[in-house]
Amino acid sequence: MLVYLDNNATTALDPRVLEAMMPYLREQYANPSSIHYFGQQARHAVETAREQVAAAIGAKPRQIVFTGGGTEANALAIRGTLAARPDKRHFVTTRIEHDSVLRLAEQLAREGYRVTYIGVDRAGRVDPAEFEAAMSDDTALASIMHANNETGVIQPIQALAEIAAARRVPLHTDATQSVGKLPVDVSKLPVSLLTMAAHKFHGPKGVGVLYIARGTRVLPQLLGGHQERDLRAGTENVAGVVGTGEAIRLAIEHLGEENTRVRGLRDRLEAGLLAGIPAAHPIGDREHRLPNTANIGFEGLQAEAILMLLSNEGICASSGSACSSGSLEPSHVLQAMGVPEAIAHGAIRFSLSRFNQDADVDRVLEIMPRAIERLRAIERTR
Ligand code: PLP
Repeated sequence: MLVYLDNNATTALDPRVLEAMMPYLREQYANPSSIHYFGQQARHAVETAREQVAAAIGAKPRQIVFTGGGTEANALAIRGTLAARPDKRHFVTTRIEHDSVLRLAEQLAREGYRVTYIGVDRAGRVDPAEFEAAMSDDTALASIMHANNETGVIQPIQALAEIAAARRVPLHTDATQSVGKLPVDVSKLPVSLLTMAAHKFHGPKGVGVLYIARGTRVLPQLLGGHQERDLRAGTENVAGVVGTGEAIRLAIEHLGEENTRVRGLRDRLEAGLLAGIPAAHPIGDREHRLPNTANIGFEGLQAEAILMLLSNEGICASSGSACSSGSLEPSHVLQAMGVPEAIAHGAIRFSLSRFNQDADVDRVLEIMPRAIERLRAIERTR
């Protein structure tokens, strides 16, 4: 029995999304740039998907650019905006971003940009006052994620966006984890750029979306054909784009369920683990958190050992820590939050979706206390 609780890594393709994609993988294979009627059918499918994505977030279709994933959308947002404002050389971001932003920030620093990293509090949230203080007249762009992939903690994005707008600094938000789990409405949220990735909301992998607000100047980072209004060259991934449109439509349809049934499953899982396992610590803001995510630190243990035991039982979860060059570094997110090392090393992320059922939670609650007890017994004999 597969118990899949790693939905912040990726989600299952909804069968209805696959069905919508299939014609474009089989018979409707034309290039949307082709003049003939066959190509124009593909063009129509791409533009319909663009309308679906725009409608889901309160945008206009012409503000939507399809990319080859969340990483690429982040890169286009950041590199594209900086390239359009060459007179400004300061970039503001946070310590808890996804690597697709953090590694890019490090590269920008190597290229001579001044980069300011804003910290977070113990709950994992950015302080808007710190953000405001970080900006200067030289600030070209700020990038702050909407919801964190490891903890699910949601940033005060409305307040941050209003501060940035008042300072006339474009704000990019990586909303890869929030779209499909939270209502996102750019008609009320004054961000300049917003990233999404279809595979986080039961769409296909390898399709990202960048929303670009009116008046935000972005230069293309991939040059070639005139696709995506000259902002992202390359023949469109027609099936993937069609799947993204259908996936976001379904995600909006299921948004209520995400906040009731999925939240209920998550809360039962979390409460059960905290009650049944000694020295288990919930991580991250309780109130401002995605409804599907629980991150729990099992003090004194190594996350990798826990994940292996769970995996042997068919349970898929995740840890935030990266295993680099043999040394186990605790996650940069938990470090930024000041989570004590003994807890951070044993932090496990459970991330649910609308495809999870009560039985999944039952299974984890049955397996986990024994598994943790076994690991602790091994630790004690060391
Ligand atoms: N940003 C966040 C917050 C993510 O969780 C991910 C997922 O891996 C990405 C960006 C990158 O998306 P992708 O893997 O589609 O490039």
